[in-house]
Amino acid sequence: MKKYDVEKLREDFPGLNREFYGHKMIYLDNTATSQTPREVVEAVERMYFHSKANVHRGVSSISQEATDLQETTRRRVAAYINASSPEEVIFTRGTTEAINLVASSYGGTFLKDGDEIILTVMEHHANIVPWQLLQRHVDVKLRVVPINERGELDLDVYRSLFNDRTRFVTFTHVSNVLGTVNPVKEMVKEAHRHGVPVLVDGAQAVPHTRVDVRDLDVDFYAFSSHKMYGPTGIGVLYGRRELLEKMPPYQGGGEMIGHVSFEGTTWAELPFKFEAGTPDFVGISALSVALDYIERVGMEAIAAHEHKLLERATRGMEGIEGMRIFGTAPGKAAVVSFLIGSAHHYDTGMLLDKLGVEVRTGHHCAQPLMHALGIEGTVRASFALYNTEEEVDAFLAALRRIAPMLM
Ligand code: PLP
Repeated sequence: MKKYDVEKLREDFPGLNREFYGHKMIYLDNTATSQTPREVVEAVERMYFHSKANVHRGVSSISQEATDLQETTRRRVAAYINASSPEEVIFTRGTTEAINLVASSYGGTFLKDGDEIILTVMEHHANIVPWQLLQRHVDVKLRVVPINERGELDLDVYRSLFNDRTRFVTFTHVSNVLGTVNPVKEMVKEAHRHGVPVLVDGAQAVPHTRVDVRDLDVDFYAFSSHKMYGPTGIGVLYGRRELLEKMPPYQGGGEMIGHVSFEGTTWAELPFKFEAGTPDFVGISALSVALDYIERVGMEAIAAHEHKLLERATRGMEGIEGMRIFGTAPGKAAVVSFLIGSAHHYDTGMLLDKLGVEVRTGHHCAQPLMHALGIEGTVRASFALYNTEEEVDAFLAALRRIAPMLM
């Protein structure tokens, strides 16, 4: 295996070269969004300067060039997640929109009053609120899987929640707060045993692990480009073709139609049926450059590096008086949520910021999880391919410095 040269990789990310309050920035909010490598930004620039024409709009060479760039990404994403075909890859604004699409189109069509949806207490609001919006139209019941003290899903409860009214299952692949990696294959198998389709929120999985949608056997899988070194504002919904074919459009407008008249309108074929209006074709095109980047560094190498950083950080944090870490599942992703003593998470975050350490504080869009943990929020540090052991040590030194002030 080639050496993992993190200093060399850092040169690809000009965004890391910041200072705050006279300290070199240590960027540990990668769960919220990652920094972007130069070549992705250059791909965006190239498209704006050379190939900007609307996609799927006619025979002009420049429009065809733009269309090719966008559709190359679709093929690239399909291959990356091992979808059966590019038509199963729908471009959205992000994970949030992908989940809203499924809740609205699939949920609004196939779920009926009295039906039940199983989800989990560790969901991001993006995988809770769309189902509550659905409840305004259909009287569906949400059944919630709890967690144990390590932050793992209680699979006995999960299995016990299935009954003859269960019509849909959805859960996150990786928790954005606890780092827990859920046993997707096992959970999907259980749902399919009951004939129930599954949507997996992959926002925190795709940046850290190889995802094979056919091996996982998921029916829908959603993720965001900006968390995986790609441009902001775009995401992906993978959907199994048979289901996508049956589902009505999510939004109406240009691009998604077959034929329009005032008497009635027909829909375009997949995937365009779900892509009304001008897509962010610039961002979509540049996403394939982000995938190239990840592949070049190597997902296994990235995961191993992040794991090493997580272990170093966790070991160091455990030695700090008053430290409480939330989420200790074996094999967790490189995310540490914590509180020090009885200090408010904002105070801890603000003190860290004064030392150049950029972490996230708050409920992390997971208020039901916070409620289950009996807290209002946490401080969260999360690692990416460009973080270094020296940064982890500086983070630990900052924690040791501020901890006595917070006790
Ligand atoms: N799901 C999870 C687990 C997340 O962590 C996030 C973002 O933090 C989302 C969904 C929403 O992603 P986006 O805001 O990119 O749509």
